[in-house]
Amino acid sequence: MSTTIISVVNVKNHEDIQDAVLEAIRLIEENFPFTFSNANSILIKPNLLAANKNACTNPSFVEGVINYLKEKGISMKNVKIGDSPGQSNETAIEVGKKIGLHDLCDRNGIEFIDFESQVPIKETIQGAVKLKETYVAKIVKDCDIIINLPRLKTHAEATMTGAIKNYWGIIPGGLKARFHLLGKDAGQFGEVIADNYSWIVRNKPNRLTVYDLHSVMDGLMGPISGKMNNWNLILAGTDELALDVVALEIGKFKGIHVPHIKSAIKRQLGVSNLNEIEIKGITLEEAKKMTPKFNVPTNLMTQFISFLSGNIAYRIMEKIPKINKDKCKKCGQCAQVCPAEAIKFQLNTFPIFSSQKCISCLCCMELCPHHAITPIKKGLKGLLDIF
Ligand code: SF4
Ligand code: SF4
Repeated sequence: MSTTIISVVNVKNHEDIQDAVLEAIRLIEENFPFTFSNANSILIKPNLLAANKNACTNPSFVEGVINYLKEKGISMKNVKIGDSPGQSNETAIEVGKKIGLHDLCDRNGIEFIDFESQVPIKETIQGAVKLKETYVAKIVKDCDIIINLPRLKTHAEATMTGAIKNYWGIIPGGLKARFHLLGKDAGQFGEVIADNYSWIVRNKPNRLTVYDLHSVMDGLMGPISGKMNNWNLILAGTDELALDVVALEIGKFKGIHVPHIKSAIKRQLGVSNLNEIEIKGITLEEAKKMTPKFNVPTNLMTQFISFLSGNIAYRIMEKIPKINKDKCKKCGQCAQVCPAEAIKFQLNTFPIFSSQKCISCLCCMELCPHHAITPIKKGLKGLLDIF
């Protein structure tokens, strides 16, 4: 007996990607646990990792989702699109502009939100293994429905990134680097990703995922660059664990070999048994026949990269704010917005930043009215910090 439903759609059977996205959503819409028309705030969360089209969700997927919402009579005033790229040197807005997503928002009157531009919300994750306290973007906390738009890619550290891992972007800014440090090896990092996903499962019940398997990044160098293979598929569903399991099954790879999926299965954060997943659209066997094997990094490689990331790289890459005293007007607004109370401010003096308390959310930078704060990487000094 099935307990969740996933659609699998062949893009080649449709005029274009937008049309295939519409079909993928329509196939499962009668089972949504929510109604779009009752929502005041719908957040579309693509993957905007870097200004490289292969690393991001294809904007045509976003357009397909917008077309679906319009078809349902949803006002675009109630729709927002946003992400936080994390360690990239570019902001979500810069990435959005370079891949054409920003134009799409402008054309449709949709607000684009850089998660770093809002003061993040501190949350406790019940039952967490590693990430017991977190910060999530305010729009993620506030929205009524999330439409998750991941892209299937290999990942040198996490083995693969997809439906579950795409929620890593709900953690704003450089704070992601700090949370990376909780994962000293591939297994531990998998627990951290599963912790973050468990917050989503417990706090955001109204979710739809439309999964970009049209052109899939393969090989050892994901998630920013790698060999691209055309799978010509779109998946849609409301259970990200089931979606990741099905996506990997199509690629002839077992989800249990991916640390964060293994952890999500163990914690029962969704449906993982293929016998309990009903597939609509083309069959799993048809999908498997039309796709190549999904090649992922070896365990040895993910262990090595995780060790480097969890112990060294992210200490160096963590971004902290640096004040430009020529521009600072000593207004004190940065100290008021800092969620970690890492900024001391006294009237008529420059604010003082504590790198020990700073959680690298960078919202002081976004909200400084005089643009007097820039992000800098901690560099080698970061190695001296004890997390
Ligand atoms: S908000 Fe900007 S201008 Fe105001 S005190 Fe902070 S750094 Fe200076
Ligand atoms: S000082 Fe650090 S924690 Fe505080 S707002 Fe700035 S980046 Fe965020």
